[in-house]
Amino acid sequence: MSTPTSKVEIYDTTLRDGSQQVGLDLTVADKLRVAAALDGLGVDVIEGGWPGSNPKDAEFFERAKKINFKHATLAAFGATRLPGRKVEDDASLRALLDAETPIVTLVGKSWTLHVDEALRTTRAENLAMIADSVAYMAAAGRRVVFDAEHFFDGYRADRGYALEVLAAAADSGADTLVLCDTNGGTLPEDVATIVAEVADRSRTAVGVHFHNDAACAVANSVIAVSAGSLHVQGAANGYGERCGNADLFSVIASLELKRGHELLPAGRLGALASTARTIAEVANLPFEARQPYVGSSAFTTKAGLHASAIARRPDAYSHVDPATVGNKAQVLVSELAGRSNVVAKAAELGLDLSADPTLAGRVLDQVKEAEHRGYAFEAADASFELLVRKSAGVLPAWFELEGYRVVIERAGDADRSEAIVRLRLGDHRLVAVGEGVGPVHALDQALRRALAEVYPQLASIHLVDYKVRILDGRAATSAVTRVMLTSADAEGEWTTVGVSDDIVTASWEALADGMVFGLLRAGAEPLAEEISEAV
Ligand SMILES: [Zn+2]
Repeated sequence: MSTPTSKVEIYDTTLRDGSQQVGLDLTVADKLRVAAALDGLGVDVIEGGWPGSNPKDAEFFERAKKINFKHATLAAFGATRLPGRKVEDDASLRALLDAETPIVTLVGKSWTLHVDEALRTTRAENLAMIADSVAYMAAAGRRVVFDAEHFFDGYRADRGYALEVLAAAADSGADTLVLCDTNGGTLPEDVATIVAEVADRSRTAVGVHFHNDAACAVANSVIAVSAGSLHVQGAANGYGERCGNADLFSVIASLELKRGHELLPAGRLGALASTARTIAEVANLPFEARQPYVGSSAFTTKAGLHASAIARRPDAYSHVDPATVGNKAQVLVSELAGRSNVVAKAAELGLDLSADPTLAGRVLDQVKEAEHRGYAFEAADASFELLVRKSAGVLPAWFELEGYRVVIERAGDADRSEAIVRLRLGDHRLVAVGEGVGPVHALDQALRRALAEVYPQLASIHLVDYKVRILDGRAATSAVTRVMLTSADAEGEWTTVGVSDDIVTASWEALADGMVFGLLRAGAEPLAEEISEAV
């Protein structure tokens, strides 16, 4: 049994098992970037791939040899030798040795059904395949982790044989015996029982590997550690085939914050949220806002009723302090919001409304009125901040729109739009033309061109997301369009919202606000006065 302070090894399989996820396709350079992020976080083992199965993984190990990881040790993954084959003649084992990793993880079958039906060999030969392959790797100086595939199903079907499989690996020199829930359907109570039974009788360290098919992968990992597991496998953000692997980040946070284990090097837990986000970016997958501990909504509260209480006692409304995992609490602004909600939200943005009840009331009225027309500030912090600053009279006027005109053209198969934007900076007038594949793109180009010389900061701001929703029944007269637009600079991103009966008008509003907010972030000096004097 593990005690609350015993060291539990964190083994990441994002680059092997995690990459089985649909839509996750990492280049070798991406894999090296993910490995660097995991090493920076402080996981113990990074499984880099299956060198015998594809050239990309072999290349990863070739390039990884030149990297000095700060904390992590590399593992290469592969199967035991083929039936009726000698270990020396097995190409897959050769590829594992060629990867030159300190750790080799060998997977073998522990469920009789799979030995009989999938492997189609004798049960004795399966044991020999495991024993030979483990002994071969151990003799070559590798630390051998043995993954017992389908262990929980195998244990239920034929307990004696499943344990013989573990014994074959342990007796041949395996250093860790990993019980894998390959089909992912095992429930926590069964995990607790089986892991305890195996760990109690094993002199070799026991580890676990869970899939999330019954939505229990993280729970199973945590309970397995309480039952005596000293090694946990999982993938970043729960990536993996079907419903995914155990989300390693949730496992780490739960074990550290709720079970007192020290898993990451001291002080690294605070890098959890940023690591999760970095890996999602490298993987080019959307970052799940509802992801426990690290998601942007993980500590976000919407209820207006609770907002004043949250401001007084934040710890009463979240299960852990978000700062411990590098996340932060957020209050959403919504139609239901009371004044205290608006004050709390403004405080989060660094604007103090508490001293001025009149201003807070005015902002609340404007939020309510805008939400009635179809605005949504929950996901548009930047627009909310602009609204507060405008109400408080502390928003500089970088530019003013005089008007725009957009021409949309379709010729053959090609779409082309042209926009003319007319702006005012003080008494000065700026006119610029932009071309684009659609009207919004053309407006963006024209706006940038008009302001490029005056505000060079705009060059580092770009659009990252554009979403359109048609809202029905919100307005009394007709359906309205809501545009959510996300802009980014080197430091981060922000979202603005525009609403109108017309999609171009709604887009313009979100676009212009996005640039205004970018100028605010960049601390750009409004040049309206200087220009008007110069002209
Ligand atoms: Zn797996």
